[in-house]
Amino acid sequence: MNFFARRLAKIQKPSTLPVDNILTEENIYNTIFLNCGEPDFDTPGNIKQAAHIAIKNGKTKYTAVDGVYELKKAVCKKFKQDNDLTYCPDQVMVSSGAKQVIYNAMMATLNPGDEVIILAPYWISYPDIIRLAGGEPVIINCLEQNNFKVNPQDIEKSITSKTKWIFLNSPNNPTGAIYSYQELKEIASILLKYKNIYILSDDIYEYIKFGEHRFFTLPQVEFGLYDRTLLVNGVSKSYSMTGWRIGYAAGNKALIDNMILIQSHSTSNPSTISQYAALEAITGDQSYPRYATEQFIQRCKLVVQMLNDIPGLRCRFPEGGYYVYPYCGNFLGKRSCNGKLIKDDRDFVEYLSKDYKVELVSGNNFGMSPYFRLSFVTTLTILIEACQRIRAACAALAE
Ligand code: PLP
Repeated sequence: MNFFARRLAKIQKPSTLPVDNILTEENIYNTIFLNCGEPDFDTPGNIKQAAHIAIKNGKTKYTAVDGVYELKKAVCKKFKQDNDLTYCPDQVMVSSGAKQVIYNAMMATLNPGDEVIILAPYWISYPDIIRLAGGEPVIINCLEQNNFKVNPQDIEKSITSKTKWIFLNSPNNPTGAIYSYQELKEIASILLKYKNIYILSDDIYEYIKFGEHRFFTLPQVEFGLYDRTLLVNGVSKSYSMTGWRIGYAAGNKALIDNMILIQSHSTSNPSTISQYAALEAITGDQSYPRYATEQFIQRCKLVVQMLNDIPGLRCRFPEGGYYVYPYCGNFLGKRSCNGKLIKDDRDFVEYLSKDYKVELVSGNNFGMSPYFRLSFVTTLTILIEACQRIRAACAALAE
């Protein structure tokens, strides 16, 4: 008899989680890790200070399962200010990261066989969270020719009587695609017709957008979808707070109540100290997200240019986020100096890791091949070294 649950058979270990690696410019000749989803910037000082103060003031006990009221009120204010959407604190919950928010939502709503539409390339955890909750992911491919965005007609074709949710993620991980107001309006016009389908809008990269690109979330564009949209957001990406584990959600009260019920029997409240740090992040000085975005733009320009200069590689300029998603199909069928055949993007990424010590994530993890994801979450110097290694690796591949 197998001791482990059958549900594990369908899920995989995420290949984007960080390892304990300290990369500095001194040990640059070691492996360069560009596979993680967290920036090198430290959490801003005012946020760390708020955590110290919380500890000093004894804010070290359990809180309400769904988070401290002050933080939920601050989240409501953020949605009003940034997205022109009105929520009451009882429509909001705080969790241990956006990941837990999504997990709660799926556990609270999916029955075996329920379908959830996700758009590939997608964030690695979506399909497995859906499967863990008993649902079936239904994938729509969003091709590079369409800037990795969905064709709204494809949504309609994928809807069945079992469809319960559709996930949207803009700016997107891994492609950086941002849906414009008009594009969201077109998606909304389809979804308005299907009254039983809920929308999970994962807006975690909201603040990291480049150039003229503006951020909109679905209910802001079509208020008719307000009741059926769960907004998912958090402080991990916007304030370099990945380790603090605070995410939050806003949506209709019945959905939020059931998500709170799930959380009440799993983790209870997210860390009290982190909640006070997140409160400072959301309500305090907002210069960090602007500063980080400026740095990301510089890094992104460098990486896109260096990758596009490599014969055979093609890299689209992302609209936001901190990833690029280059095409590596021209290297398939080639061999390395050691005779290893590159059959797919997995082999390509493995070759770069083993022979050139650059860690990337292959496109198959995001549901679209042959691509790879590179996170530009480190200094320009290290990124230059990484791109030079990728260049050398590509040049060494032969027919
Ligand atoms: N959603 C997307 C698209 C992400 O890329 C990530 C993290 O990589 C998350 C959600 C989870 O964020 P958190 O750290 O808040 O759990």
